[in-house]
Amino acid sequence: MKPMNMPVPMERPPGTDLVQAVFQVCHDAVVFTDSAGRVQWCNRPFERLTGYRRAELIGGTLDRIYAEQEDFGVTHPLSGPRMISADHRIITNYLRRDGSLIEAETSGWSFLSTEGAILGHIRIFEDYTATNRLVRVKDKLFDAATDQATSPGEKVDAMISLACEFLHMPVGLVGLVRDSNLLVHKAKSTLAPIPIGTLFPLEESDCRIALAGDVPFETHSTEMAQKHPLLPDIGLRTYIGVPLVVGGERIGTLSFLNPLSRAGFTSAERQLISDFARFAAQQLAQERQIAALERAATQDWLTGAGSSRQFRHDIENVFRTVRRNDAQASLILIDVDHFKSINDAYGHDMGDRVLTNVARSLETVIGANRRLYRVGGEEFAVILPGSCADSAAIMAEQMRQRLAEAPDLASDMPSVTASFGVAELDPDITSQDAWVKCADIALYASKNNGRNQVTSNGSIAGVALPDELWREVQKKHAKTRKQSITI
Ligand code: GH3
Ligand code: MG
Ligand code: MG
Repeated sequence: MKPMNMPVPMERPPGTDLVQAVFQVCHDAVVFTDSAGRVQWCNRPFERLTGYRRAELIGGTLDRIYAEQEDFGVTHPLSGPRMISADHRIITNYLRRDGSLIEAETSGWSFLSTEGAILGHIRIFEDYTATNRLVRVKDKLFDAATDQATSPGEKVDAMISLACEFLHMPVGLVGLVRDSNLLVHKAKSTLAPIPIGTLFPLEESDCRIALAGDVPFETHSTEMAQKHPLLPDIGLRTYIGVPLVVGGERIGTLSFLNPLSRAGFTSAERQLISDFARFAAQQLAQERQIAALERAATQDWLTGAGSSRQFRHDIENVFRTVRRNDAQASLILIDVDHFKSINDAYGHDMGDRVLTNVARSLETVIGANRRLYRVGGEEFAVILPGSCADSAAIMAEQMRQRLAEAPDLASDMPSVTASFGVAELDPDITSQDAWVKCADIALYASKNNGRNQVTSNGSIAGVALPDELWREVQKKHAKTRKQSITI
């Protein structure tokens, strides 16, 4: 029941002018509505937030700024003509005049008459659009970081895309320091392609300054940014970059470029770029660790030749492919002659140096397209897909000569020779183990015939190994099968 002496609602709540004066200078968007929810006044930040001029709003209700119409006056506790309780705060989507969405936290209260009747409402909108974008981008970064299905490299790619989108920058790149250059390790560009692996001089890029700094370095319209060596034909105006630090070492930069100039980056954006850089550095460190582990598994620690594990893997593949395609392949096994005596005479360290030197010499002969494997202490192997025994024997002979003539020898290093066994993958060889055994028999023949020579399975038919050598071969290869160790 309305009280009989209820005052006629005033068009403007008492003290409105004073309140308006206060809210005119506040940063948040403020709007006054009357008891029927019609706009009476709004400040400049409200005009900026919604895109409407004050004159367009006055007298109308606020339904037009609600993204979800049903929010207005129905479910939204801060909309329409209903009473607003002071402790209500709500974050919701609003619609700007140009159709874009904004997120704002709204709070407010109602002016009441002494009898409790609503005289009008004040609503205050705090724009959360930027803040929420930041929260969302951080959420996405977290998702990318914890995604089990992606590699560290893929995570960095995802991060660069995310950062470019968030910062409105068309180019993002991770450059790694290589002497006085930066190597493009990762790049995203909607302007012009930036090939991975491109080297560009640090001196000619703003990345040089970014690399040396501790906080993001940003520059707008500098000469450097304009003629960035990666995109010389695109007048770049904006650059922001930050060093990538792994274990205290500045390994490169994360940078973003834009042909459009902008006023500058906000502190939230600068903070986020530093977060992105930390994230990228972590992923790069992991990438390095994984690469080191892979190298350890596939590469011999001493000579850098392929490991025996890699040899087993590769020979199995070659065997299968050759058998499937009815093709040719040969295998060369190499064993350094009397190597024990090198260790005995010069010590184990010199022995190691000699082995490394032997590997380098053999590699000069086999070239970049083939791989040398260290398959035992002083034993090496080369797989030659597509080669018959004769051409493999020619390569083996070149290797033998290279070692015997010793052009690669340091002055303090003793020279060594090696014995070679060549085996073409004949049709009657039924497994890769049998293939290795065949090459080993040829190698034993070389040893037996005086070392420092090449024997191939094409030429051993008439070679009779002494009984004890045959026994040795059999024993060795029986062990191989049991333990799955190659030679
Ligand atoms: P042969 O001509 O019959 O092959 O004689 P050899 O002395 O080379 O053969 P043997 O198998 O008797 O000895 C191989 C030696 O290689 C024994 C071992 O100490 C040495 N060796 C194996 N791996 C390494 C290594 O990594 N470093 C060094 N310094 N020596 C090694
Ligand atoms: Mg040996
Ligand atoms: Mg030997």
